[in-house]
Amino acid sequence: MNHHSDIIVIGAGPAGLAFACQFKNSDLRITVLEKAPLESIAHPAYDGREIALTHKSKEILQNLGVWQRFNPKEIYKLHEAKVYNGDFNYALHFKLPKDLKALSSIDRLGNLISNHNIRQALYDEVKELPNVTIITDTTVKSVQTSAQQAFVTLDNGDTYTSDLLVGADSRMSFVRRQLGIGADMNDFGRIVMVFRVSHPLSNEATAQECFLYGRTLALLPLHDNLTNCVITIDNTQADSLLSLSDEELAAEVQRMMSDKLGKITLAGTVHHYPLMGVHAKTFVSTRAALIGDSAVGMHPVTAHGFNLGLLSTETLSNLILNAHQKGDDIGSSSLLRRYNHTHQLHTRPLYHGTNAMVSLFTDDKKPMKMVRDVALRVSNHLPPLKRWIAGQLTGK
Ligand SMILES: Cc1cc2nc3c(=O)[nH]c(=O)nc-3n(C[C@H](O)[C@H](O)[C@H](O)COP(=O)(O)OP(=O)(O)OC[C@H]3O[C@@H](n4cnc5c(N)ncnc54)[C@H](O)[C@@H]3O)c2cc1C
Repeated sequence: MNHHSDIIVIGAGPAGLAFACQFKNSDLRITVLEKAPLESIAHPAYDGREIALTHKSKEILQNLGVWQRFNPKEIYKLHEAKVYNGDFNYALHFKLPKDLKALSSIDRLGNLISNHNIRQALYDEVKELPNVTIITDTTVKSVQTSAQQAFVTLDNGDTYTSDLLVGADSRMSFVRRQLGIGADMNDFGRIVMVFRVSHPLSNEATAQECFLYGRTLALLPLHDNLTNCVITIDNTQADSLLSLSDEELAAEVQRMMSDKLGKITLAGTVHHYPLMGVHAKTFVSTRAALIGDSAVGMHPVTAHGFNLGLLSTETLSNLILNAHQKGDDIGSSSLLRRYNHTHQLHTRPLYHGTNAMVSLFTDDKKPMKMVRDVALRVSNHLPPLKRWIAGQLTGK
C-alpha cells in the first residue's frame, strides 16, 4: 500500500519530534517513521542524560509550546560553571555575562532538563497535532530520492512517498548512508558514564568540568543536594568502573571530587554510552535533508548536541514554511542548499573546536598538562574570550 505525505521524517527521537512540531500551525502533512516500539516513544524511560539547554533552545521550545509542558520543579538552574585542570586548585570560572544580565531578564547561564522529560513533552505535543502521523515499530528497508519525490519502503512492503525526506535517525544514520552522504567520524575510544548522586553539601547551582588525569568528571547541578555525574574514561579502563557496586562507585566519585560535596550516595541507575563524534559532509541530497545527530553527533563535553539539533529543526522548517507560503517547492535544491550552508556555519566550528578541546584536555603528557594550565589562566584573564565562551554556553 502506498501513502503520500508532504514530508517523511525518519526517527522519532527529540530532533525528529521537534521538527514535526515546527509544522503545528501549517497544513503540511508529516509522517514520522520510527523503528522503536510505541511504548518507548510515548513513555520514554530515564536514560541518565541531563541536557544543558541554551537560552536559544528554551526560546525554540517555548515557541513550540513544549517548554510550558515541563514540570517547573524539574527545570534545573545552571547558575555558573567552573573548569579545572588535573586537581581542584585553580578554576576557569564562568558567570552570567553582565551585558546579558543587564539587557534581559536572564538570571542563569542555562537550564538542565532530563532527556526523558524533553522526549515526553515533545511526544505529548506532537501526538495532538492533526497533520502529524507517527508510525512506530517500523523497519525501513530502503530510501531513495529523485528529482520528483522521495520514496521509502518498509520491511512489510508498504511504501511511503513525499516531497521531502528528513533523516533524524541518530549519529549512525541509516538514511545518511542510503543517500550516499559521507561523514567525518571520530571514535574517541572512550565511554561516558552518567548517573545521579546525592550529597549533604550544596552544589550552588554550579557546573564543574574536571579534567582529571586519565578521566574527566563533569558535575551538573540539579537540586541543591542532587547532582548528575558524567565520567568519561578510556575503553580499556571502563570495565573496572562499570563493575563497581553502587557503594564503591559512590566512594570513587567522592574521591575524584576531593570530598567537595561531602559524603556521596548514588541516587538512581547508572547508564553508559560510547563516545563518538560524527559530522556529515553535507546535510542535504536530492529532496532530502539531515537534522539532529544524523547531521552532527557531538562529544557531550560542551553540551551542544541537542542544542544544535533544535537549531537544525528551526532553520530547516523556517525555509520550508516560507516556501510553502509562497507556493514554492518545499524540497527544491535551492532551499536545501540554503539549509546546508546556514547549518554548516553553525556546526563546523563547534564540532572541530570541541574535538580539539577534547584532545587537549585528555592528553596527559606533561607538556599538554602545562599547555592547558596556561590556557585556563589566560582565558580567565581575557574578558572577550570568556564572553565568547559564555556566549557559546548560553546561546546568546
Ligand atoms: C551522556 C550524554 C549527555 C548529553 N548531554 C547533552 C547536553 O547537555 N546538551 C545537549 O545539547 N546535548 C547533549 N547530549 C546530546 C543529545 O542527547 C543528542 O544530541 C540528542 O539526543 C539527539 O537526538 P536525535 O533525535 O538526533 O537522535 P536520537 O535521540 O538518537 O534519536 C534517534 C531516533 O531515531 C530512531 N531510529 C534510528 N534508526 C532508525 C531507522 N533506521 N528507522 C527508524 N527510526 C530509526 C531511534 O530509535 C531514535 O528514536 C548528550 C548526549 C549524551 C550521550
